[in-house]
Amino acid sequence: MKFHIVPFGCQMNRSDAERIRTVLSGMGYTECEDENDPDVAVKGLIACSVRQKAIDRVYGRIRNWNQAKIHKPCLTFITGCVLPADRDKFLKMFDLIFPIDQLTDLPDMIRQYGVPTPGSMSHNHSLGDEIPDEGREDSETAAPEVIPFTIGAPEVGMPGREEARERIEEFWKVRPSYGSVTEAFVPIQNGCDKFCTFCAVPYTRGREVSRPSKDILSEIRNLIDGGCKSVTLLGQNVNSYGLDKDGGELSFPQLMREVGEIGRQTGAEFWTYFTSPHPRDITTDLLEVMSEYPVLANWIHLPLQSGDDKVLLRMNRNHSMARYRAVVNDIRRLLPDASIFTDIIVGFTGETEDQFEATASAMREFRYDMAYIAQYSPRPGARSARWDDDVPKEEKERRFRYLSQLMQEISTPLNSARVGRVMRVLVTSEDRKSGYYSGYTEGRIPVRMAAEGLRIGEFADVEIVAARPLSIEGRAAAGITAGDVR
Ligand code: SF4
Repeated sequence: MKFHIVPFGCQMNRSDAERIRTVLSGMGYTECEDENDPDVAVKGLIACSVRQKAIDRVYGRIRNWNQAKIHKPCLTFITGCVLPADRDKFLKMFDLIFPIDQLTDLPDMIRQYGVPTPGSMSHNHSLGDEIPDEGREDSETAAPEVIPFTIGAPEVGMPGREEARERIEEFWKVRPSYGSVTEAFVPIQNGCDKFCTFCAVPYTRGREVSRPSKDILSEIRNLIDGGCKSVTLLGQNVNSYGLDKDGGELSFPQLMREVGEIGRQTGAEFWTYFTSPHPRDITTDLLEVMSEYPVLANWIHLPLQSGDDKVLLRMNRNHSMARYRAVVNDIRRLLPDASIFTDIIVGFTGETEDQFEATASAMREFRYDMAYIAQYSPRPGARSARWDDDVPKEEKERRFRYLSQLMQEISTPLNSARVGRVMRVLVTSEDRKSGYYSGYTEGRIPVRMAAEGLRIGEFADVEIVAARPLSIEGRAAAGITAGDVR
């Protein structure tokens, strides 16, 4: 018997997928890459609710899966970031729906539900083309009561922090089935207390809960002992790591110092990343710790979202541009080789042309190495969804194209300045271009390299020979060691 899972969205979902794999493998299923394989008995989606496009992809997938189920029995489930507004619709399309922190109950749910037969399928599931009005509980073949779906706005059914802690700590105890020996995601936190008005995460993942540091450090130690070269610490708001435990846990800078010490004690070469920090909470002592340990990578993902104070206020980001600028100045002072990535939203509700211009001007000022730019779309349940989505679609597209072009204009000279240097690169995979490998620098600049003299899964000194707008090209450096450059 086989299973197939599809994680949509962010790295946290990909990390969650690694634990789902472990649970399903523990039941005797084997993973199958081909969702159409006739032996696939369980199919699962890990949903992302950040943008409507991601939700549309869920509908597209389950429509196909349910059509296939007419001919071949199969159990489907959905978990991850699911908004209350989507939950009822998904309940009618999937066999199981559960919050990720109840993953350890999945074997019981599957056993009790069983794999539906084609006959039962036609009774109680929408194919996804049309959502039936009646709820599944009225159906003849309704699922048993084991489906414990509990997401919702905090005031209407989200578990409190302590309940959330108990559940997510059970989840974290599941040993992940890592997707790669070379690169690993390590969750350090779940949920978010920030309530940015455009964001649904606090409503889908609940209150901030920090994973015990001893478990995080032991997982990292094992990964490094196993030859892992790149570790990414994951959380919705990593800088507030530990704050939910009232002094009973390390702070984020202290946690990073301990990771740095693993590097010092083992002498291993690896890069440690974290995502995402919040500009409000990032501290100078974190940057000082990062400057002390070579295994703490020279890379910061610092979400800007908007370059205008009034928009930041309406986004409930709780910091000003002056604060953001001070953080960037600190990064440039303490980590002069660090690359800075960011996230930007264009067309947020009420964003004027001048406010958009302020964002463009912030991009020019901070000279990001990479910006992930998104067009605003209201998320049902998030606060901004109650406000007019009043920037026309065409205008959002124009602003998106403008910033995308600006990003290329900023990164092209940065990448050109890398040509002729020898840089340390982690070689991660085969490139689409035959005879080439892909990888990235410590600052996460994508590199395409002639494969000769290089090995996937290893660090290499690479001479940069060409620059493209958002990446660079190189070849193995013969007898030259990488300099201290990003
Ligand atoms: S910090 Fe804001 S954008 Fe990030 S997860 Fe929390 S609410 Fe969402």
